[in-house]
Amino acid sequence: MIRIGLLGSRGRMGSLITKLLDSEYSEQAILAASVDRGDPATDLLNTDVVIDFSGPGALSSLLKTLESSPHSPAILTGTTGLTKQQLNELETASAKTLVLASANFSVGVTALIHLLRQFSPTLLQLGYTPVVTETHHRHKKDAPSGTALALCRAIATDQPDKVQTHSIRAGEIVGDHEVAFFGPADTLTITHHAMDRSIFARGAIDVALWLAKRRKAAPNETGLMTMESYLNSI
Ligand code: NAD
Repeated sequence: MIRIGLLGSRGRMGSLITKLLDSEYSEQAILAASVDRGDPATDLLNTDVVIDFSGPGALSSLLKTLESSPHSPAILTGTTGLTKQQLNELETASAKTLVLASANFSVGVTALIHLLRQFSPTLLQLGYTPVVTETHHRHKKDAPSGTALALCRAIATDQPDKVQTHSIRAGEIVGDHEVAFFGPADTLTITHHAMDRSIFARGAIDVALWLAKRRKAAPNETGLMTMESYLNSI
């Protein structure tokens, strides 16, 4: 059994992950620690892997707690809106354990990023203008979404800030991303539509189990992993 720690356990994603661990995943994993506002992050340390869907500040506190801990669970974070400093903190933590940060745990978006890396350089060279449009529920705190930023990095590695982005916050939309390339006489449009938040929750649990098993098999393995490295392993 893999022991899972959950940070942000009372949120939309945290609640869904709790339900899934109790049902579909009950034979593979147990929820060993649930942490939300007001709970000590130290409860998370005695686990095999921590799944984080909270906020950037909470992730920073967890990583600080981890620094002085003799035991290091693997860390998987889906929290978006991370600053450069928080990304650096994740990199520091990856010297001690396996760390995977992804703004999107759906296979569809991982495939889209892969495709964009392949064909964007040619389209940009031919003068196409890329535009990323994302739509999310009105409660979402960050804009553009972490996924939109990852798409921009896949389109233009050197200058992701130069890619136009548009954010719509409305209703209860789970998450839609559209990438369009506008050329002189044609437009290419690719869309990813998440129909249900469980796509991210299941993806996060699957990747967390993979990280934990990897760490059990090779306890000294450390480093920053990616969704692509996960997909390549299956
Ligand atoms: P939410 O607001 O519903 O839940 C966040 C939870 O974190 C809340 O229960 C809150 O109390 C808790 N929290 C916040 N600060 C905390 C702190 N300092 N200590 C402990 N707990 C704290 O949000 P959500 O919709 O569940 O999303 C959470 C994060 O995950 C957001 O950054 C969101 O953009 C991201 N997200 C990522 C993916 C993905 O696939 N990577 C999918 C959906 C959401």
